[in-house]
Amino acid sequence: SIMPATLSAISNGARKGILFKGGSHIEQLGLLEAIAFDKTGTLTNGKPVVTDMKQRIGMDENELITITASIENHSNHPLAQAIVTYAKSRDITTFMSVDEMKDVSGWGVKAILNGKEWTIGKKGFVGEEEANSFANGISKELEEEGKTIVYVSDENGIAGIFALKDTIRQNCNAAVKQLNDAGLYTMMITGDSQKTAEAISSEAGVKNFIAECLPEEKVNHIKTLNKQYRHVAMVGDGINDAPALATANVGIAMGEGTDVALETSDVVLMKNDLSRIADAIKLSKKMNRIIK
Ligand code: ADP
Ligand code: MG
Repeated sequence: SIMPATLSAISNGARKGILFKGGSHIEQLGLLEAIAFDKTGTLTNGKPVVTDMKQRIGMDENELITITASIENHSNHPLAQAIVTYAKSRDITTFMSVDEMKDVSGWGVKAILNGKEWTIGKKGFVGEEEANSFANGISKELEEEGKTIVYVSDENGIAGIFALKDTIRQNCNAAVKQLNDAGLYTMMITGDSQKTAEAISSEAGVKNFIAECLPEEKVNHIKTLNKQYRHVAMVGDGINDAPALATANVGIAMGEGTDVALETSDVVLMKNDLSRIADAIKLSKKMNRIIK
């Protein structure tokens, strides 16, 4: 049978937009020592916007947008959708047909267009050296503003880049501060580059961050964190986050997250409000005191 204190915590949580999937998770929340956050869609709104672009000499700006958007139209990554939206805002609405589209999770996309192979994604996916020599100087500046750079390349090398800016969630800063002040260790885990991660994590106020993390590596980072801290939570929204949500002592999903994240998690923030995490911890501590 469920204890009255547990029932009270569950109903109090529901009123505040926190869905607990069971009593044991509430107890765990009250014991938390560390919290790891995913970046895109968790600390940020997950709706990046194209702010800058640059194409190589001889490449027409509209041509680069058309090619990139035609390929990204077949991916549902937030960066891909943002580039499609950007194309439409520039009145580019007729896309080219794409063959052999390959979506490589954590890296980017590859596709054949008019018989030519295109690679779109992060630096390490298109070739570190070429990416550096093309974007040298400007990429550092853009990344220090917390922008993500998407590189586009064909067989002749880098054809151009897009810079995209995502905004941190309203309340994110206050929510993280509450957790820091409560003595928790807070960190961000992202697949994004070192410089971009550094900028976003300092905007959010988390104590530490791990960048360039492949989707399958998130689980290992949670396990490592668990060696230092006995009770660890992971907060995420994506399919990529599901294994880490399952590995953490408490998996917390954003309400607008993917179905897989919602199913795998122990707690759901129904209104996507990060400040509810500190509320949930308070409720849990109160319940733990009553039960003991
Ligand atoms: P995150 O959600 O932390 O950005 P992901 O694992 O989804 O991490 O992606 C890691 C990186 O791979 C992105 O920051 C981006 O640079 C690149 N990437 C992944 N998918 C795409 C895509 N469809 N188009 C462009 N870049 C992509
Ligand atoms: Mg995410």
